[in-house]
Amino acid sequence: GAERTKNVLILMSDTGGGHRASAEAIRDAFKIQFGDKYRVIVKDVWKEYTGWPLNDMERSYKFMVKHVQLWKVAFHSTSPKWIHSCYLAAIAAYYAKEVEAGLMEYKPEIIISVHPLMQHIPLWVLKWQELQKRVLFVTVITDLNTCHPTWFHPGVNRCYCPSQEVAKRAMFDGLDESQVRVFGLPVRPSFARAVLVKDDLRNELEMDQDLRAVLLMGGGEGMGPVKETAKALEESLYDKENKKPIGQMVVICGRNKKLASALEAVEWKIPVKVRGFETQMEKWMGACDCIITKAGPGTIAESLIRSLPIILNDYIPGQEKGNVPYVVENGAGMFTRSPKETARIVGEWFSTKIDELEQTSDNARKLAQPEAVFDIVKDMDELLEQRGPFANVAYTLTSSFASLV
Ligand code: UDP
Repeated sequence: GAERTKNVLILMSDTGGGHRASAEAIRDAFKIQFGDKYRVIVKDVWKEYTGWPLNDMERSYKFMVKHVQLWKVAFHSTSPKWIHSCYLAAIAAYYAKEVEAGLMEYKPEIIISVHPLMQHIPLWVLKWQELQKRVLFVTVITDLNTCHPTWFHPGVNRCYCPSQEVAKRAMFDGLDESQVRVFGLPVRPSFARAVLVKDDLRNELEMDQDLRAVLLMGGGEGMGPVKETAKALEESLYDKENKKPIGQMVVICGRNKKLASALEAVEWKIPVKVRGFETQMEKWMGACDCIITKAGPGTIAESLIRSLPIILNDYIPGQEKGNVPYVVENGAGMFTRSPKETARIVGEWFSTKIDELEQTSDNARKLAQPEAVFDIVKDMDELLEQRGPFANVAYTLTSSFASLV
């Protein structure tokens, strides 16, 4: 007979573009791989179903990354297990009822968390509702190396780690080898599956056909020393003697409108494209020859798929720090906070050190894991299939949490 469509609920929060990008990548891969077999709902659950402080996570995050020292303290002071579990216990008791309502509304067969703070509460709710045997709960980690311990919960059916380093941490933190899989960071299928020709892309994006191109960005929020770097690049990519450019530049400012309008006002000596939030990053990356970015995991994984040599010029303390050695030690790029140094490297890559540019590009390609997101959804599907026909979830509220306390 016709199989019933299965529901997948992805829990995320818009703290930086990375979590949303991963959530959307998983949703798109389900669609491509399984068609109508699955219905995938991406929910910023905390924003919609809970009160302070969880619904404020996005705003607090943006505030904290702007005040980096504060974020550093918050990250490290919430690390010890006993602190975060007490903190989460308090929040869980207060909000569980609303989380429960959210789960009941969507009746998922699979719950996927792509957020470091979204394991404990939903897992507890499943336990209270005696649903943990019938609903798969999996975590997809979106940090490449150093990640917050709240990502790891021994109660999950699977924990998908983007790298061996993260898998080691997961097992050190009490997960069993059988729970852990390493496929890579999920990147939108539009990156993995697209066949892109650089000449066509440059045509479409109205870029110069011949000059090498550098892509400059700072995550979804347009963070880091973007403006200073753009100015320094203008100098290093301009041949003063012959009065002509040796390269071109694309600056993608994300949601940082102030940055975009400041850069648009400049009269550049070299060809420059300034853009706001772009929905087709794979095209811009495909049209360029190297990238400068803060150490966001999403941008790094995407750049590797497009074989772009990476210059990392910033990172968010804590979770992004480990992304730096991941890139540098694997020969896929460099790290420097200095806009002048960044501009000097790109200037050399585009003139006297083209070999180095190409070697770095090869190294990037070797690190890329374009199939990761498909491996992840196929594994989830297998897990569900293994449960057989009894997996048809009868969602009945046994008793609400409120009546238990
Ligand atoms: N991104 C995008 N359009 C933009 C800027 C960024 O689609 O204009 C995407 C980018 O491709 C990546 C994500 O936003 O997938 C940024 O994630 P990352 O982990 O690099 O940094 P975050 O913004 O989460 O700190």
